[in-house]
Amino acid sequence: MTRSAALFAEAKTLIPGGVNSPVRSFRAVNREPVFMASANGAYISDVDGNTYIDYVGSWGPMILGHNHPEIREALISAAGKGLSFGAAAEGEVAMARLLTGLVPSLDMVRMVNSGTEAAMSALRAARGFTGRDKIMKFAGCYHGHSDGLLVKAGSGLLSGSAPDSAGVSKAAASDTLVAGYNDLSSVERLFTQHQGQIAAVIVEPVAANMGVVLPEAGFLEGLREICRREGSLLIFDEVITGFRLGLSGAQGLYGVTPDLSVFGKIIGAGMPVGAYGGRRDVMELVSPSGPVYQAGTLSGNPVAMAAGICQLTYLRDNPQVYTALNALGTALFTGLAEIAQNAGCTVNSIGSIGSLFFTDAPVKDYASAVRADTKRYAAYFAALLEQGVYQAPAQFEALFVSYAHGEAEITKTLDAARSFFATEGRRTA
Ligand SMILES: *Cc1c(COP(=O)(O)O)cnc(C)c1O
Repeated sequence: MTRSAALFAEAKTLIPGGVNSPVRSFRAVNREPVFMASANGAYISDVDGNTYIDYVGSWGPMILGHNHPEIREALISAAGKGLSFGAAAEGEVAMARLLTGLVPSLDMVRMVNSGTEAAMSALRAARGFTGRDKIMKFAGCYHGHSDGLLVKAGSGLLSGSAPDSAGVSKAAASDTLVAGYNDLSSVERLFTQHQGQIAAVIVEPVAANMGVVLPEAGFLEGLREICRREGSLLIFDEVITGFRLGLSGAQGLYGVTPDLSVFGKIIGAGMPVGAYGGRRDVMELVSPSGPVYQAGTLSGNPVAMAAGICQLTYLRDNPQVYTALNALGTALFTGLAEIAQNAGCTVNSIGSIGSLFFTDAPVKDYASAVRADTKRYAAYFAALLEQGVYQAPAQFEALFVSYAHGEAEITKTLDAARSFFATEGRRTA
């Protein structure tokens, strides 16, 4: 029995499903999980001594690669001064200065401990500002696991056995309206049906939790216009896209300015960090300056801030990182598209994130994403894992390329994909 198998057997008796976050369970690819022991650069190693090229990157945070020496040093140095104060500290100001300096739509920010918290809190601020109860999200977009956002929420919910979550009250879900991604007419329809009741529209400006799905021309601009007209706030959930698609995120890339934004993942460099922010008139409503309550014992934790600040500063001061990331992304995703072009697959990508969907029709929303053949993905996942390539253990996730990846890793990955497709027909039982 492998060490992974032994750990999983014990974990299942101690932790629900043996994991602390569902997609780690490998259920969506009909396998048992691999337990990881260490990671360095573009590589991750399991407890049985296997090493893989890693395209999960902790689901995005490790944009510079694992165990980056500067970040590690910054973190160790901060830890030497104490792990948590529960009091105001300089790192929080430095982080806020960095975020507001890099993302023009951010007048003010509040740090929290996860993307879930950030999205939930941004919606509370939007409700406080508008005095309205309803919010609108898009099918297949994930904004964390708070009650009102677990409606058609993509990601782990898309792959797992639970389409929606038990334990969410009808009341909580009933304030959530669901529109179609890239479908402005569905947005207009909901605004007509719920005139004057919608506090905010929250969207992943590039969707990355039903696999990577790009906004069609005019979609984000249309949302901006409709929200302005209706007096609703537009919230960009940039937990994946923030500092991934560039220093000012998807909003900078597409030139569309949201009222509020949500961040996570990259801004913590692997530590548990989230942030929400935006217009001053909205953010000033957050406690203690305003009546919208939101708090956190470990928010703005000094060790986490040090790691995040180090990563963001590195990204800011080394513009070649995005050039390199985008070139690597192009090499990987155009390579995959070529290899899979006659195999009934579709590749969506932007910069250093992308997805290989096992469906031949264009993937532009939830309905077209879920047409993908998850059994074929499971076989593909297994074949690449065997060849030392670790990708998301689920079809409806992104591949994340890091700055530590190089041509050698991309070539090896494409070779592995090529050998899978060359034998796929023969392999199927
Ligand atoms: C990961 C993710 C979240 C949730 O962040 P957690 O830190 O896992 O709570 C929210 N929104 C998007 C777009 C995400 O990808």
